[in-house]
Amino acid sequence: MSITQGLPQDFKPDTYDALVIGAGYAGAVCARRLAEACNFKVAVLERRNHIAGNAYDYYDEAGILVHKYGPHIYHTYNDRVHTFLSRFTEWTDYQHKVLANIHGALMPVPFNHQSLKLAFGEEKGENLYQKLVATFGQDKKVPIMDLREQDDSELEEVADYVYENIFLHYTMKQWGKTPDEIDPAVMGRVPVFIGDDDRYFPQAPHQGMPKEGYTRLFENLLNHDLIDVYLNVDVRDIMKLNDTTITACDKPYGGEVIYTGALDELFGFDEGALPYRTVDMVFETLPIDHFQPVGTVNYTVSENFTRITEFKNMTGQVVPGKTTIMREYSRAYLPGMGETPYYVINDPDNIALYKCYRSRVEKLVNFHPVGRLAEYRYYDMDGVTESALELSDDIISHH
Ligand code: FAD
Ligand code: UDP
Repeated sequence: MSITQGLPQDFKPDTYDALVIGAGYAGAVCARRLAEACNFKVAVLERRNHIAGNAYDYYDEAGILVHKYGPHIYHTYNDRVHTFLSRFTEWTDYQHKVLANIHGALMPVPFNHQSLKLAFGEEKGENLYQKLVATFGQDKKVPIMDLREQDDSELEEVADYVYENIFLHYTMKQWGKTPDEIDPAVMGRVPVFIGDDDRYFPQAPHQGMPKEGYTRLFENLLNHDLIDVYLNVDVRDIMKLNDTTITACDKPYGGEVIYTGALDELFGFDEGALPYRTVDMVFETLPIDHFQPVGTVNYTVSENFTRITEFKNMTGQVVPGKTTIMREYSRAYLPGMGETPYYVINDPDNIALYKCYRSRVEKLVNFHPVGRLAEYRYYDMDGVTESALELSDDIISHH
């Protein structure tokens, strides 16, 4: 692998079998697979000055490993994804735990057996728990929107408490809308857990953090003789699409193009901009060993930020006398202003607009949109990796 800042004057796209736009999971996984399986020479073009996309981590001025674009915790149910990524990193056995700060009281999220007892008292909490077990079964995940539909006064009491104290205000801060107004799948990401597992991802068989960080994982993933990485390159400066042809550096390009950026941006937003939420991440280094008991504390009823993450609690890094924390402030994303489009807003209008853009690349058989931006999907790292593995399977099968 070589990593170059900017494109050389004599850059010739047609010396590469594939151009990969974006060095996040979607792009890096495809680059690696095409290099390995097809002996493709691959150029990865990334507009940021670093690899790893939104999973990028680095050591801050205090020497603490932090995640620039928000806390990233690896977890998956998918054995293929896990086996693939495990070629490029070892994992720590970190198990992510989150507490909700409810007027100063700290309660496990997802809301579980212990949370019930903290919220309703030992005896009543236990009775309510037994009722939940009798209704849904032990060790079951129940989305809050399903729990709210139960026609039983005790279960309604639980649902009302959880809705009001865990979901309503946090969701208003994160999305500017109530839970009823957004895609139910978003609430379903953090179901009530009827059991004692107090991990944020209960039952996920593979979880942890890459032992030397995410950026190192990506260095290893991209470290292949046939892969060249070019940073600080916005592909819109060199690539144009029409209905049937891709032009790169003013010449038709016939190799494979893996595109992991936003489709509306590629077309100059000419059908309108796809909406997103962005997040202002505010970092602070404090002169103390530890700030909070777990990796992340969600502020579910107060404050105007959603959550505070303390990185040392996730990475296990030992740095005495200082710690770096980060607060997340969510707001509407302004297109074309250089902001980061973090969260897609999955509603019928936005999906229709996305499909409009998508239809414009349908006839370009060598153009492959993949990933969180290009597919306009709320993906976790494992979901993106799975999508990239499947796309590369498909391309490999045709070569
Ligand atoms: P990205 O990582 O966004 O990579 C796309 C790359 O393409 C970017 O580097 C971008 O600069 C580049 N690019 C775009 N346009 C162009 C262009 N025109 N020219 C050149 N380059 C371009 N997932 C988890 O599994 N666990 C978590 O705990 C977790 N936490 C998260 C927290 C936050 C706050 C957010 C926002 C996401 C989190 N995720 C988490 C999701 C995770 O970040 C994504 O699933 C993953 O990073 C997406 O990878 P990607 O390659 O699709 O996109
Ligand atoms: N959520 C909430 N309260 C919480 C945790 C999550 O209301 O304590 C809702 C909120 O709408 C959030 C969604 O559930 O956007 C998904 O949460 P998750 O932690 O998966 O979000 P991410 O880590 O992707 O930001």
